[in-house]
Amino acid sequence: MKVPLLDLAPQNAPLREELAAVFARVLESGRFILGEEVEAFESEVAEAVGSRHAIAVSSGTDALLVALMALEIGPGDEVICPSFTFFATAGCVSRLGARPVFVDSCPACFNLEPSLLEAAITPRTKAIIPVHLFGQAAEVDAVLDAAKRHGLAVIEDVAQAHGAESDGRQLGSIGDMGAFSFFPTKNLGGFGDDGLVVTDDESLAKRARTLRNHGMSPKYHHQLVGGNFRMDALQAALLRVKLRHFNHFLEQRCRNASYYTERLRDLGAVAEFPVAVCGSAENAVPEAKAVLPAVHPGGKATWNQYTIRFRGEGARDAMRKRFEQRGIGSEVYYPVPLHRQPCFAEAAKSCPELPVCEAAAGEVLSIPIYPGLSDEMKDAVIEVIADFLE
Ligand SMILES: *Cc1c(COP(=O)(O)O)cnc(C)c1O
Repeated sequence: MKVPLLDLAPQNAPLREELAAVFARVLESGRFILGEEVEAFESEVAEAVGSRHAIAVSSGTDALLVALMALEIGPGDEVICPSFTFFATAGCVSRLGARPVFVDSCPACFNLEPSLLEAAITPRTKAIIPVHLFGQAAEVDAVLDAAKRHGLAVIEDVAQAHGAESDGRQLGSIGDMGAFSFFPTKNLGGFGDDGLVVTDDESLAKRARTLRNHGMSPKYHHQLVGGNFRMDALQAALLRVKLRHFNHFLEQRCRNASYYTERLRDLGAVAEFPVAVCGSAENAVPEAKAVLPAVHPGGKATWNQYTIRFRGEGARDAMRKRFEQRGIGSEVYYPVPLHRQPCFAEAAKSCPELPVCEAAAGEVLSIPIYPGLSDEMKDAVIEVIADFLE
């Protein structure tokens, strides 16, 4: 049985009529950029996330960029972020002339290791960007503590974890600002590139809103140097349809993850972390051929990815090849940590060793987890893993 890494049809096909009606509504409105649809989408997301303000923008990358710009991050500043993340997290910092300072990850949850934060903070540090990778909460309280002690801003990169929680709080609403993405593969997948910034801070919200539209306020009077980071009305209107079904999509992701975990943990060569508390000695990666993803106690994960470690020389790549031969999609998020990327060579010069994320980059493999994945398909994925581990 063929199983793709991602198939958007099970999400979008049942909504076809609703989506088509919305398309017609926007077409007839003649209003294609910002406007009522975008404002309505912003209010709906703000309410669901529990933030006072939401500013819809053109992508998740632009959400990070606008957040950093609103916080006036620029040349000479340092921003702490993980190295084991998607490029955009650090790319936006560099684009503003600031320096990304890379910190190693927790071996259990793959997120920023908070016990390493103090050593990374300097008088030039302005902000920390915890990334909630794969839909799992980073240890936000430890990040907030460090930020408070040193007067730093916290921008949550919640691109992969929309809808996830940490101790009952929606991710994105916990730090000073939260950056969301609606890239089609994300938990709330749009119909193109879109993103959104949330904050409780009135003046940050005002700045972000102005920056989104060329720093313009009022019309043709430019208080700030912003850009065109506006969301299209059509995208907002279509996203509003999917937002109504969002919890259903999340439930399916969670159900798929439990299904995998319950069956894979019974295989002989598979191990799990005893706890998933960052900084804990018990988080040494278990000596097993395959290690299942760990979840923080108190965290509600949304499983944007289900990421298994395959341990031993060449094991991950061999597993990937086996999947390919059997028609099963898989992907390596991410094969090269950011401090090893040529474009960050300068920033990486002052970077300490980051052994956890280097090991992860060589071992991780993400398997199909999308809403609509059938039990037969999950069984097919499990069977290939079981064969491989035998
Ligand atoms: C997807 C992603 C982004 C960027 O979002 P886009 O909408 O693709 O620009 C940023 N950070 C992380 C961790 C992501 O996964």
